[in-house]
Amino acid sequence: LNPIYSGMGVTIFEKMSALCRDGSRINLGQGFPDDSGPPELLAAAGKALLERSNQYPPSPGVPELRDAVATWYYRSQGLDLSRDNVVVTSGATEALAVTILASISPGDEVILFAPVYDAYAPLVRRAGGTPVFVTLRPPHWRYDGDAIEAAVTPRTRAIILNDPLNPTGTCASVEELSTIAQVCVRHDLLAICDEVWEAVRFDGQSHRSLLSFPGMAARTIKIGSAGKIFGVTGWKIGWLCAAPALASVLARAHQFLTFTTPPALQYAVAEGLASDALIDERREGWAQTRAFLNSALAGEGFAALPNGATWFSCIDLPGSGITLDDAGFAERSVHEGMVASIPVSAFYETDAVTSVLRLCHCKAESTLAEGVARLARFR
Ligand code: PMP
Ligand code: GLN
Repeated sequence: LNPIYSGMGVTIFEKMSALCRDGSRINLGQGFPDDSGPPELLAAAGKALLERSNQYPPSPGVPELRDAVATWYYRSQGLDLSRDNVVVTSGATEALAVTILASISPGDEVILFAPVYDAYAPLVRRAGGTPVFVTLRPPHWRYDGDAIEAAVTPRTRAIILNDPLNPTGTCASVEELSTIAQVCVRHDLLAICDEVWEAVRFDGQSHRSLLSFPGMAARTIKIGSAGKIFGVTGWKIGWLCAAPALASVLARAHQFLTFTTPPALQYAVAEGLASDALIDERREGWAQTRAFLNSALAGEGFAALPNGATWFSCIDLPGSGITLDDAGFAERSVHEGMVASIPVSAFYETDAVTSVLRLCHCKAESTLAEGVARLARFR
């Protein structure tokens, strides 16, 4: 067996959710809403399931969804895309696998930013590449141009950027994006942009994709997920967008990973993406859960770090008077406090930040209030 997998445990998300499945604990760990999804979207999926074909749809996705993704990106981000730029995948996770397996060869180096989403480094390694980490630090998790430049070598093939960033809930500034784009252009790198949180930005902030910066259209693979836009994480409908020449090669990798993705869910997501009202309603709901959790934390004397996006709020543990590190506090919270959380150190391989705990806020207020009360009781 390949040692990458035979030596690997389950992810921290699976570990925490498994502890919660018997209903004994509050799960503020793995990121997912505690509702089932918007009723309109569920009805559209049900209708498509009953009334349309359930046989293999086209491998790159149903035309309705490829068009809807391109149109939504034009409306929401001003991007000039068509269905030829879009390949539908079984979640953003598959889009990441497709992109990394199709673009990274043995000997290549890939720059990753830590905190790093857990799927990236194992995929890079399985493709024969080497991850090179650039470390971001709290409270602002800023991207430093000199540090990025120093990580580039003649072997560097790509940068993987996750913006907005899971687990911190922060966003790169336009200046930071511009710096990253310039590094990519200067060294002829691919930019693999995991933008699954693009629709979950609060405070009136609009999303700007690295794809839109000068020189980036031909070298960027932009990855999205309906799971995050609509809060239906189990659906696993994602996509990648790239220049047609690149997208057609990535489509070849997709055809031998999953080939295709359930058609009824693709039709439903196409309908959902046509409704700005639905997307806005989801985001506004999560703006409220973010505000509720942050104020409940403040009420119990926890210091929350700034979070302008995603379903996550982060606690600064030392700033909250807690002396345990994040992994220690998360273990105590889940076993004694009966509330699951995610230690941010799990998003580092080296040089970890151990002072920050991630909590998922897209839950009922009563659940959030009880979760915070439990955390406060034993800290
Ligand atoms: N990338 C990031 C940064 C994520 O947070 C997630 C899911 N939480 C994914 C990728 C995976 O998305 P999907 O469920 O569509 O595969
Ligand atoms: N991305 C989700 C989170 O951060 C987890 C997804 C997964 O478990 N694969 O909570």
